[in-house]
Amino acid sequence: MVVAHNKVVQIHYTLTNDSGEVLDSSSGGEPLAYIHGNGNLIPGLEKALEGKGAGEKLNVKVSPEEGYGAKDPSLVQDVPRRAFKGIDNISVGLQFQADSNQGPRMVTVTRIVGDMVTVDGNHPLAGESLNFDVEITEVRDPSEEELSHGHVHGPGGHHHD
Ligand code: ZN
Repeated sequence: MVVAHNKVVQIHYTLTNDSGEVLDSSSGGEPLAYIHGNGNLIPGLEKALEGKGAGEKLNVKVSPEEGYGAKDPSLVQDVPRRAFKGIDNISVGLQFQADSNQGPRMVTVTRIVGDMVTVDGNHPLAGESLNFDVEITEVRDPSEEELSHGHVHGPGGHHHD
């Protein structure tokens, strides 16, 4: 069985940026399990996995366009410190949920100069080329329940009470 639309796919992966820095990895933990072809992974990664089988290893280079998108400069804003009511320890790297025109969005504090705080609403990996080392550990049909829930049950997926 190969990776195709609505198959349950389990992968182990290590994500590095162009400097070779490890950004994320499933190594040492549960594999990542997802239902293929539903936008659960970034487009470049789903495309590369299509048609591959269990046991295959691949190295996938994903451009920003097929990853988390280009950086949008309009999502970077300077906000006076007093706007952060109730947040005591504002520091670079702090992430929090903020309201925006498109609904709630994760923003990251990227700079603090005096009383001005720069927040960035881009995904932290926007504008980055991503390198995935992937090993496909399982490809199977989903259960009806998994399909109706839209997520995988069991190892690497959801655990319902
Ligand atoms: Zn479920």
